[in-house]
Amino acid sequence: MKVTALAGGVGAGKFLRGLVRVVPPQDVTVVVNTGDDIVVHGLHVSPDLDSVTYWLAGVADRERGWGRAGESFRATEELRRLGVEGSWFGLGDLDLATHVLRTRLLLEGATLTESTAEVARGFAIASRILPMTDDPVTTRIEVVADPDGPLDLHFQEYWVERGARDQVKRVHFEGVEAARTPGDVLDAITQAQVVIICPSNPVVSIDPILAMAGVRDALRRVRDLVVSISPIVGGKPLRGMADKLLPVIGVDVSAVGVAGHYADFLGAFVVDEVDRALAPAIGDILGGPRVAVTDTIMVDDAASERLARIALEAGLSGSPA
Ligand code: GDP
Ligand code: CA
Repeated sequence: MKVTALAGGVGAGKFLRGLVRVVPPQDVTVVVNTGDDIVVHGLHVSPDLDSVTYWLAGVADRERGWGRAGESFRATEELRRLGVEGSWFGLGDLDLATHVLRTRLLLEGATLTESTAEVARGFAIASRILPMTDDPVTTRIEVVADPDGPLDLHFQEYWVERGARDQVKRVHFEGVEAARTPGDVLDAITQAQVVIICPSNPVVSIDPILAMAGVRDALRRVRDLVVSISPIVGGKPLRGMADKLLPVIGVDVSAVGVAGHYADFLGAFVVDEVDRALAPAIGDILGGPRVAVTDTIMVDDAASERLARIALEAGLSGSPA
């Protein structure tokens, strides 16, 4: 069974570990957000591609969420001691090897898709990991930042450097109009038996992928097979800044808000037990009863596997008999 998942970072990574326990890993294609990508010390860093890679490889740090387990940060500490610009962005020592390899391949002329495949090979990952584009697309966060006046920040400056302390006015994806979606990405969506929108941040993880030319149309064409798992549980994200960013795009911080945001291409939705009372309202949005209610908190791989099974069933319930 061919399954395609749209993914951001940690929420997706956890979910994918369960998914590849339910379907053969080689049947899974993951389309990953690259709007968070940033050049640090001349290295091309792709945080969401790396999260997906590390989680699928079983080397992710479950506690911290991002980066690798057993990681050290000696190089970053030394860069900070030396006062090197950009060293507010912490890069682990093992993680650095990934960025060096990716950057080297890009400098040699490989596309981001090709470099990502090479990195995945290094981690023996059987699933296909596809960046949403090979072209530069950058998530920009415009904030009101008194006393500095309005600022237009790179997503990582907003999130990591300034700790999401600013009031956000607008989110936009720089370069998205000129960027092209590799054909593999659109085919992966239209040829899958189930398409899963992972429990990722709708504003800065899934929306950049949806903003790529052709993606939303491809999803609408297979609408009955598209299932999403709510990243909002009990009116809050489990981690991250979705609670700050959803209101900026006029979406309620709730499972209903997220379902409404995806309404034009969504066939089924999975919500947490604590949000059971919201199921009828979500059913109304979907125009049908395909709402699954279950424990969506992925405390370990077994929990992820249970959730993946339920999401797949919900998605498959839209296939023609
Ligand atoms: P990134 O790692 O910063 O790129 O963040 P993501 O795009 O993965 O967004 C984090 C989202 O994942 C948040 O909205 C979390 O609520 C959601 N998330 C993380 N872990 C879980 C989980 O175990 N279950 C569910 N349902 N959502 C989760
Ligand atoms: Ca991310």
